[in-house]
Amino acid sequence: MKKLSRRNFVKTTALSAASLSILGLYGCKKSAENAETAKPADAASTTAPKKTGNTVVIAGGGYGGATAAKYLKLLNPSINVILIDRNNNHVSCAMSNEVIFGLRDISEITMPLTKLAEKYGIEFKQAEVTGLDGEKKILKTSAGDFAYDKLIVSPGISMDYDPALNFTEERQKEIPHAWIAGPQTLQLKDMVSKIKAGDTIIFRTPLALYRCPPGPYERACLFGNEALKKGAKVVVLDPNPQIMSKKPLFEAAFNNLYKDVLTYHSGVEVTGIDYDKKIVKTNKGDFQGTLINFVPNQKAGELVFTLGLVEPGKKWASVDAKSFESTLIKDVYVIGDAIDSAPVTEMPKSGTIANATAKVVAENLVRIFAGKEPKVPLVGNTCYSLVSEKEGIWIATLYEYDAAKNKIVTRNGANGIPKAASVENKINGHSWGNNILFDTFM
Ligand SMILES: Cc1cc2nc3c(=O)[nH]c(=O)nc-3n(C[C@H](O)[C@H](O)[C@H](O)COP(=O)(O)OP(=O)(O)OC[C@H]3O[C@@H](n4cnc5c(N)ncnc54)[C@H](O)[C@@H]3O)c2cc1C
Repeated sequence: MKKLSRRNFVKTTALSAASLSILGLYGCKKSAENAETAKPADAASTTAPKKTGNTVVIAGGGYGGATAAKYLKLLNPSINVILIDRNNNHVSCAMSNEVIFGLRDISEITMPLTKLAEKYGIEFKQAEVTGLDGEKKILKTSAGDFAYDKLIVSPGISMDYDPALNFTEERQKEIPHAWIAGPQTLQLKDMVSKIKAGDTIIFRTPLALYRCPPGPYERACLFGNEALKKGAKVVVLDPNPQIMSKKPLFEAAFNNLYKDVLTYHSGVEVTGIDYDKKIVKTNKGDFQGTLINFVPNQKAGELVFTLGLVEPGKKWASVDAKSFESTLIKDVYVIGDAIDSAPVTEMPKSGTIANATAKVVAENLVRIFAGKEPKVPLVGNTCYSLVSEKEGIWIATLYEYDAAKNKIVTRNGANGIPKAASVENKINGHSWGNNILFDTFM
């Protein structure tokens, strides 16, 4: 059993009093004989004994974390892999727009992590990850502490709320962003099902950098599709200077399919929201609607801040371009949406990229444990979006590590050729979705 001194415990974790009590409480539960006297520092005695062989602990069981766990086991079953997520089931953000607009059922995108773990011999813990001792290589959670040789962290995003807008948890009950899939997805689906003739939908997209560059424009199109069917209108308020992904294809959809029902405004700064009157106040005037879907700006999942993986003043975790190892704490790898992409990669924040980089890191950890040189990343991204309930668009791009720039760049400097809207793309996109769910979570 490893024991932490109080000094190290406090020094290396950004824990609130609440988290301390969670660990303390758990210490009491696990160790009945110490129950009377357990103090927060003693809670570290819940550290699971280090297993023989190499141990990789993974925090976050979404696209990055689940893929890493599965592929580590596939590549080398003798590695101990411990996957930790706060939920037993991961609800996929990819394809959640389809759920909102009634094109898939939420059960199709709800992935039981326990089943994945059983199938591949992964140890799964449902727990909140709360801290890290990077020197002693111990991850702290509400279910005790876990010793690791290598730690992978993939907590996704969190919302970067503008305090001036007072967009509280309470307000989100009326105005769900539904940009992290789960209860809000179903809440927005319910609101969409109630849209009727004469209604106006106000849809605010997030400012880049955000999760899934084409996602907001796909949602805008699906609002347009709904408005066409029901005789409603859509106003899209985009803080970005232009459409941020697959621009010509989404522009074609806005201008052709939805020219009579959808108005797109770029460069919009929201300055206030009158929640009672449903008025969104902006630098381009006030917009009143019957349904507001406001997607806030974003930053890395809170966990990377808690674990000390973000440089002061930054909003995303800093990693090395070639390995995805944290530049701040050794033997900790950050993958998925949480990384500070701009300095190290041109890859988007997408499920496909989280899945692909997880494989790069998994293979390289297996190589490192075997005393071999890690490989340099070569990663593919395939990205489908719906422009209506009948048609889809897609683009595919390869990214590779460029040693001169120390950055993962678009191969040959060229994006893939975008494929214009078609029924075939919609069908292929649906299959792509099923395949990536299978590859990641089954
Ligand atoms: C509307 C929408 C549409 C999208 N469409 C696509 C698409 O078509 N194609 C595509 O490739 N991508 C798409 N995406 C993006 C994709 O979903 C994300 O890029 C992907 O989920 C990122 O993976 P991740 O591992 O970084 O985070 P996630 O998949 O979000 O996983 C993070 C996990 O960490 C867990 N976690 C976080 N903090 C803690 C903690 N403290 N303790 C325990 N567990 C914790 C969470 O519970 C979660 O399970 C879409 C996203 C949205 C919102």
